Amino acid sequence: MTSVLVINSGSSSFKYQLIEMDAETTLARGLVERIGTDEAHIVHHDVTDSGEEETHEQTRAIRNHTEGFAAMLDFFAEHGPSLTEHPPVAVGHRVVHGGARFFEPTVVTNLVKINIQDLSELAPLHNPANVEGITAAQESFPDVPHVVVFDTAFHQTLPPKAYTYALDAATAERYRVRKYGFHGTSHKFVSEEAARFLERDVADLNQIVLHLGNGASMTAVRGGKSVETSMGLTPLEGLVMGTRTGDIDPAVAFHLHRRADMGVAELDDLFNKKSGIYGLSGHRDMRDLTESANRGDTASRNALDVYVHRLKQYLGGYFFQLGHVDTVIFTAGIGENSAEVRAETLDGLQNYGIELDAARNERRGDGIRVISTDESSVTVLVVPTNEELEIARQTLSVI
Ligand code: ADP
Repeated sequence: MTSVLVINSGSSSFKYQLIEMDAETTLARGLVERIGTDEAHIVHHDVTDSGEEETHEQTRAIRNHTEGFAAMLDFFAEHGPSLTEHPPVAVGHRVVHGGARFFEPTVVTNLVKINIQDLSELAPLHNPANVEGITAAQESFPDVPHVVVFDTAFHQTLPPKAYTYALDAATAERYRVRKYGFHGTSHKFVSEEAARFLERDVADLNQIVLHLGNGASMTAVRGGKSVETSMGLTPLEGLVMGTRTGDIDPAVAFHLHRRADMGVAELDDLFNKKSGIYGLSGHRDMRDLTESANRGDTASRNALDVYVHRLKQYLGGYFFQLGHVDTVIFTAGIGENSAEVRAETLDGLQNYGIELDAARNERRGDGIRVISTDESSVTVLVVPTNEELEIARQTLSVI
C-alpha cells in the first residue's frame, strides 16, 4: 500500500490528510489551529476499516508549526493509523501562488522554497505561511520527498490574451501584474473526474467549471486545459463571494480614498473581508442567505440576485469564448449543495442548450451526478471536489 500525506498550511494553522493511494481512500485527517498560542487546538479523525470516523481532540500550547507537526505525530501514534504501518512515501503541500514560474507539481529543494518565498509579494498572507509549513514538515518527515502543488498551476495554460490586463505594459511587467487564477487544483480535478464519469476523453471536451465555496471562481476548460478563469492577480477578482466583492470598478478604491480617506489596508479589508454576500446582507453562509431571502428579507434577496447575476454574466462570457460547451460543472460547498443557486443560475437558458432537470437537481447525493435533462445538449453535472486527493495524485506523479 502506498500512502501520501497532504498538508495545507496557513499562518496559524494547518490541515493534514493521509491518503492511501491504491484505493484513494482517506486514512486520517485533521486540523491544528491557533498555533502560536497556549490554547492551540488539534482535532484528528482516524478512519476505521469499516469507514467510520473516530474523532480525538486536545487543546494545548503549540508555539510554532514544528511543534504542531510533533503534536500531529503524537496523535497518529496514540490514536492511529500507525505511520509505521502506513508510512507516507511523500508529503504533498498546497501552495497558493506559483506566479508564472511554477506550472506543474515540483519536488521541494532549497531553491524551490526561495522561489516560493520570492513570490510572497503576490500572496503576502499565504506563501510565507506555506513555506513555514513545508520547513516544519521536512523536520518531521526528513526521509521522504516533499512536493509542492500550486493553486495557480492549472491556469498557466491561459493564453496571453486571457491573462493580460490592459494596463501600461512596462508597469505590468515590472510588478508581475497579470491574471494568474486560483482554485486550479479543484478545477483540474473536477473537469477530469467529469470526463471519466462520462467515459469521454478530457481532451475532447469543452467544459465550464463553477467552483462555488466561500471563495468562488469559474474556469473555461478546453481539452483539459484552462483557457479563461475569473480570479486574477489575487483571488479578489471575478465572482461575488462570501466576503469578497469580486469584480468592481477599480476607481471605487480611488473614490473611497479621496472621499472617505481610506488607506490601502482599510480598502483591502473592505473589499476582501467585509463585502460580497456578507457585505450586502450580513450573511456570509449561503445556507443562511437563502433561508433569509426565502423568508422575504429584501437585502438577502438582493444579495442572492447579485450573486446569481454575476454567475450568469461569466457563464455567458465563457460560452462565447469556448464557442461550444459540452459540460457545465458545479462544485465546492455551494455548487455541490445549493440546488437553489444552481437552478437560479441556469434558469431560462434552454435556448442555449442548457436544460436543468428539476427533480435531479433537488436530489441529494454524495457522488458525481447529472442534473440536466436527457434532452439538454449541455450536460450539467455536480462533481464533488477533492483538492487533497488531487494534491496526493500530483505528488505521486512526480516522485
Ligand atoms: P471553502 O471555500 O471555505 O472551502 P466550502 O467549499 O466549504 O468553502 O463552501 C462553503 C460554502 O458552502 C458556504 O457558503 C456554505 O453556506 C455553503 N454550503 C454548505 N452546505 C450547503 C448547503 N447544504 N446548502 C447551501 N449552501 C451550502
